[in-house]
Amino acid sequence: VFVSDEPRELASILHADLDSFYASVEQRDHPELRGRPVIVGGGGVVLAASYEAKARGVRTPMNGREAVALCPEAVVVKPRFDAYVDASRAVFDIFRDTTPLVEGISIDEAFLDAGGLYRVSGSPREIGARLRERVRVEVGLPITVGIARTKFLAKVASAVGKPDGLLEVPPGTELDFLHPLPVERLWGVGAVTSRKLRDAGLFTVGDLASVGEPLLASLLGRGAGAHLYALSMARDPRRVEVGRRRRSIGSQRAMGRRPKTQEDLEASVVGIVDRLGKRLRKAERVCRTMILRLRFDDFTRVTRSRTLYEPTDGTQVLMTAARQLLDDAMPMIRDKGCTLIGLSLTNLDSNDSLQLALPFDEHHQEKLDITIDGLRDRFGAGAVTRAVLIGRDPGMAAPMLPD
Ligand SMILES: [Mg+2]
Repeated sequence: VFVSDEPRELASILHADLDSFYASVEQRDHPELRGRPVIVGGGGVVLAASYEAKARGVRTPMNGREAVALCPEAVVVKPRFDAYVDASRAVFDIFRDTTPLVEGISIDEAFLDAGGLYRVSGSPREIGARLRERVRVEVGLPITVGIARTKFLAKVASAVGKPDGLLEVPPGTELDFLHPLPVERLWGVGAVTSRKLRDAGLFTVGDLASVGEPLLASLLGRGAGAHLYALSMARDPRRVEVGRRRRSIGSQRAMGRRPKTQEDLEASVVGIVDRLGKRLRKAERVCRTMILRLRFDDFTRVTRSRTLYEPTDGTQVLMTAARQLLDDAMPMIRDKGCTLIGLSLTNLDSNDSLQLALPFDEHHQEKLDITIDGLRDRFGAGAVTRAVLIGRDPGMAAPMLPD
């Protein structure tokens, strides 16, 4: 008879989240930046801020100029996405070495299920402590681990435990932990929802739990009310889903060596964005950063990135970002010729992290995307096309290989 000595009730879900990821990689690779406020910025937006900069009020995302006004002595560095992807891979290798049950959420965070490992690896708390130590020693980065019985609470625990911490919510203490926290700690409470709740005199998670679901539903709508009430009672049945979630989605197109006009390039970009938007929505992800990749006639390459203020899965927003990237790159392209153009969407997150603000906003564009996706599913990719693509061969965009 196999008798497990694993305690019956263990909080075994870990949420591991690197601290100020991009900024920490910069401080790791440039020792002169350690202990100083560092802002990683691109496209006029703060992508990451070191804790020294956060202490001065710098947040992500924030307008770059606003950030520098808050913290004039900050060192502003350009993002090095290749270095971040390398670091992320190394950290995810440690995750998968810790437990086979890893669900990647974005480039710098994942859920891990440490259940059933007690005899082999010790308690989830010991597993979490060892994981933090390995990431620090082997990759050189600080990471915070939250441990709880549910994914939602593990994520809240890591947020509360930051920076460079380990925070466990022992079974049976969930509501004691959750109820004093401000409502903004709940998954899905963005600026609009937060204001509505505060206007109604609801400030803490405990306030939400005590007013009950009907009142929340009348305030926020039935879906959002039910969702928030369940969270306030620490109800979250989702399991850790294994399967590697992609950390970027990309596509590129070879252009040949003939000369091209800006219109030719724009048409290619529009075609690529159209496909990427659909793939993003199908994967139930949202993205914050777009990377334009170009290869020139002399085979040199360049990448340019742009980060959005809000994560999106909307084709129109992606289209605007892509056009701006292309516009900015046109002088370079005119000078050197362009033989390959590609776009990657990165900084991906689950679309359930989108703020509940959405139901209150106008979202015709979202409806249009869903309608077009549906038409293409039923009638094929060519069923609906964009005006700029009419009369052009849509071609097949090659999937982007990781480089
Ligand atoms: Mg993080």
